[in-house]
Amino acid sequence: MEEKYDFVIIGSGLGGLECAYILSKQGHSVCVLEKNRQFGGCLQIFSRDKVIFDTGVHYIGGLDPGQNLHSYFSYFGLMDNVKYRKMDEDGFDRISFSDNQKEYKHAMGHDRFREELEKVFPKEKVGIKKYIDKIHEICAHFPLYNLQTMKAGVDISYLNVSAKAFIESCTSNIRLQSVLAGSNALYAGYGDKTPLYVHALVINTYIESAYRCVDGGGQITRQFERSLKSMGCKLVNYAKVTSINVDNKKVTSVSLEDGRRIVGNNFISNIHPKQTMQLIDSDKIRKTYRNRLLNLDNSISVFTVHAVLKENSFPYLNYNYYHHTQNEVWDSVYYDKKNWPENFAAFVPADSKSEKFASSMNIMSYMKYEELIPWADSFHTVPKFKNERDQSYQDWKLEKAEKLLDLVETKFPNFRSHIKSYYTSTPLSFRDYIGTSDGSLYGVLKDYKDPLITYISPKTKLPNLFLTGQNLNMHGMLGVTIGAIVTCSQFIDMEELLKQIKRAS
Ligand SMILES: Cc1cc2nc3c(=O)[nH]c(=O)nc-3n(C[C@H](O)[C@H](O)[C@H](O)COP(=O)(O)OP(=O)(O)OC[C@H]3O[C@@H](n4cnc5c(N)ncnc54)[C@H](O)[C@@H]3O)c2cc1C
Repeated sequence: MEEKYDFVIIGSGLGGLECAYILSKQGHSVCVLEKNRQFGGCLQIFSRDKVIFDTGVHYIGGLDPGQNLHSYFSYFGLMDNVKYRKMDEDGFDRISFSDNQKEYKHAMGHDRFREELEKVFPKEKVGIKKYIDKIHEICAHFPLYNLQTMKAGVDISYLNVSAKAFIESCTSNIRLQSVLAGSNALYAGYGDKTPLYVHALVINTYIESAYRCVDGGGQITRQFERSLKSMGCKLVNYAKVTSINVDNKKVTSVSLEDGRRIVGNNFISNIHPKQTMQLIDSDKIRKTYRNRLLNLDNSISVFTVHAVLKENSFPYLNYNYYHHTQNEVWDSVYYDKKNWPENFAAFVPADSKSEKFASSMNIMSYMKYEELIPWADSFHTVPKFKNERDQSYQDWKLEKAEKLLDLVETKFPNFRSHIKSYYTSTPLSFRDYIGTSDGSLYGVLKDYKDPLITYISPKTKLPNLFLTGQNLNMHGMLGVTIGAIVTCSQFIDMEELLKQIKRAS
């Protein structure tokens, strides 16, 4: 007999799991289909030499009581059942540059953030205040950021402002401009594209509070698995959807790679809109809509060195580094191959073994997918499809890793002496594990010059097919969570849902 569900969710990234939770809690029958062995998408972890590495969650903002993600995560049961460690309140992010040893701190709390910058840039008080006030103002205008219903849409005037231009309007001090934009890897900042609201919503969440998951973000997935199973939701791994079947202008089922067919009343795709369109026969959905989604530009990808550190060798750093070889921090996404790497972000995971010493470090630098074209035809995920790439790829990775470590050693002299072993991931790793076409970090690239073209509605041109995930609203734990609320509000009264969320915290 065919299985039939009220909701079939394609992909088990954070957005898919959150939609499954909300809908299961309302009493619907829900099935989540995941192509990989591990659920969670970018929440996936892996372990090497007994050390756990995160792949796509290094820190989370807004988790202090009363803050937005604390409320959302309380509703999902993620506050009591996941261990977090608060990061350094005096400087959770530190921005550094190759031209001196100074570290510029992004401190937690709006007043502290301002005071910390004023200490270093005493002549820039007016510009710093202008910056902070605007960030505040923008965040106040996004209703779900503040757990309010979206009665009126967001004012377009908040969508078409450039982040770079706004920061430049606050101060002519080039170093301060670079410090304010210094953590722009958090949203893959493009000087000629990134809207100010993206910068504001992301940065503000961390300024409010910044936490790390202890022993990896995989805890979030495990908690979802427990609660979803207890509500009767069916979670199926190794379930790659290969087509979305449409009959009479409605989706009737999805087909899996192994031949199974899953039937449902409603379908939510948690995968990239472009890949979603590729699963539907081209004559079954409106052409202009399909083409728009197929042609969306994505944000850049990354190359990462995951270093296992020697025991009791390198201090645990309760903060992240965003290091730049130049003041032009917006230019690194357009790096010239000859000068790679132009920047790196370094994240030290929190583990329960020690708060004094670090057991690992993730070091990330932007990487364009086009560099991986020579191996584009290969495919690698574990435990299936192991070792499908050739020696030239391994050699290339080694060369890149060593270059990245050279730059890291300009910041942390002798860093190599602390390394026990290291592993790397590339845009191909993200492409193969997450299922995008180019391993993009955060999916669809937002452009302040044309904000509506990158606006993706949860509704599609098929009445019972919906979208969720980082491409919808915004990326990141908060952006995706808000996206899941927007998607589920197609079926549940949003005001009622927000009441339930507020009651949970
Ligand atoms: C390197 C990196 C670092 C990051 N750091 C942070 C951070 O520190 N803090 C933060 O808040 N955010 C961070 N993010 C962003 C955050 O992780 C993502 O925005 C978020 O997890 C994306 O969730 P999603 O719901 O869009 O699903 P995704 O994570 O994109 O998952 C999609 C899922 O769909 C599955 N899938 C794809 N195709 C199919 C198919 N055909 N059939 C079945 N299943 C399929 C995939 O296997 C995957 O499991 C980071 C992201 C990256 C890449």
